[in-house]
Amino acid sequence: MKVVKFGGSSLATGEQLDKVFNIVVSDPKRKFVVVSAPGKRNPQDIKVTDLLIECADHILQGKDYSSLFETIIERYASIARELNLETDVIEKIRLDLKSLLEGDHTNKDRFMDAVKASGEDNNAKLVASYFQSKGVEAQYVSPKDAGLFVTDESGNAQVLAKSYENLYSLREKSGIIVFPGFFGYTENGDVVTFSRSGSDITGSILANGVKAELYENFTDVDAVYSVNPNIVQNPKEISELTYREMRELSYAGFSVFHDEALIPAFRAEIPVNVKNTNNPSAPGTRIVNKRENSNGPVVGIASDKGFCSIYVGKYLMNREIGFGSKLLRILEDYGMSYEHTPSGIDDITIILRQNQMDQYTEKDVIDRIKKELCADEVKIKHDLALIMVVGEGMRQNVGTTAKAAKALADAGVNIEMINQGSSEVSMMFGVREADEKLAVSALYEQFFVAVPV
Ligand code: ASP
Repeated sequence: MKVVKFGGSSLATGEQLDKVFNIVVSDPKRKFVVVSAPGKRNPQDIKVTDLLIECADHILQGKDYSSLFETIIERYASIARELNLETDVIEKIRLDLKSLLEGDHTNKDRFMDAVKASGEDNNAKLVASYFQSKGVEAQYVSPKDAGLFVTDESGNAQVLAKSYENLYSLREKSGIIVFPGFFGYTENGDVVTFSRSGSDITGSILANGVKAELYENFTDVDAVYSVNPNIVQNPKEISELTYREMRELSYAGFSVFHDEALIPAFRAEIPVNVKNTNNPSAPGTRIVNKRENSNGPVVGIASDKGFCSIYVGKYLMNREIGFGSKLLRILEDYGMSYEHTPSGIDDITIILRQNQMDQYTEKDVIDRIKKELCADEVKIKHDLALIMVVGEGMRQNVGTTAKAAKALADAGVNIEMINQGSSEVSMMFGVREADEKLAVSALYEQFFVAVPV
């Protein structure tokens, strides 16, 4: 049995939904279909999830939301019209959404999550009814009935372990199961969503729960590319990569697959296949436990902006027990998470996303580090980009760092920081944001285009 997940762009129009139908029925193993809410029909369009968020915001601010409501209903209705579906499914969606929006919103987070989740929930009902109209046995299944339980963290739910056992019994149901992505239920019966793009997470949880042989994730590109196609034209496609490589790449800006979504599939050792709804015969990218390292040390290069670094220097830091933990405790006090901590004997640098701090918090943090840790020097650098050079093959290859550093030097890019974990799955270069594209292109040229000597 396979779990197949379709993203928003695969479900944005009736034409797209028909492609989805054909993909599902072309393989009898495709029993579990996870759907997103309708996404963008063109680059200027707005995703249904974003319309729902705006609508919920209007309600919370006491503003008129009638036109947003109609726009949302029209998104479903236009799909139904295109596919000649009976109007009763749209009427049902209209009534359900209306009563949700008019319902209790004293708890803002709960209300927002319930409204966001309705995008996928209603779409799953629409998709199931289209499949039925084509004479196929298909049914909508609610995450509540299936027992998909999550933690009570609004907009950032985590799956509870008992869900996996509950989901296993879905195997007994006959026909195709259409399952809404993006949310689960708390043990108290409230809807809570995963983080944005979280339908990928649902697909992975379901794949683990039903012990699928494969998790197919359909999106709108042929494969995961070795580098961002907005930086390098027609980059090489990746045919196979490991869970760890994918995790590193999606962390630093590869948005094809949600970074949290790998964990459930990885734990159950279920391979993931990223494929294109608009070109389903293309093999796509497989994400697996182990792969042959036949294609050189580097599998992909990713980058992301918006980081800052806090450099802390103190003579004899290496001998001071508890220095690191005190430093990180200060960040914890402000609820900030950090990304990397490259260090020397007498210094440590903390790299974090700079949107976690405004200028006042920044000043407070620096003052506290200076005072409480008696640091000799504390410096902050803004607007950094992190570039991740990723590949399990780096472990067996000599000279990858040298090649990367030379490529950056030849391109005139100043490396602000380097970090390589001992797992050797990735190498991180910190550069100024202004140099990001140049650096990525130079590294791509070095590892994917230049003929090895
Ligand atoms: N519709 C949700 C979002 O836009 C979840 C998803 O598409 O995966 O974030």
